[in-house]
Amino acid sequence: MAGRNRSRRPQPMKIAPDKPVSEILAELTNSAPASGYRERSLAIHGLICAKCGREFDGASRRLLTVHHKDGNHNNNPPDGSNWENLCIYCHDDEHSRGLLGDYISGGRQ
Ligand SMILES: [Zn+2]
Ligand SMILES: [Zn+2]
Repeated sequence: MAGRNRSRRPQPMKIAPDKPVSEILAELTNSAPASGYRERSLAIHGLICAKCGREFDGASRRLLTVHHKDGNHNNNPPDGSNWENLCIYCHDDEHSRGLLGDYISGGRQ
């Protein structure tokens, strides 16, 4: 019976008791990589381009990027409502249009 070793890398957590939680959270947010939301969005919306419907797998997933619907990269709601998974081609196309608002409200192809 070897048993399951779930925690391969134990991470020591040091939390100073005199530190307010809000401060700790702020530190975590600041140190988090900007790409942190990407994995989240891929997990929520799946490995598929929202525009052309192309599907991606583990090897090609790097071609899938996360687009912010409102254009604000700092607006990252945990439910993924501001994210859209777009392949790099569609993402490029999306931004080259310039006026994202037109695309959303215009409804023209
Ligand atoms: Zn696409
Ligand atoms: Zn974008």
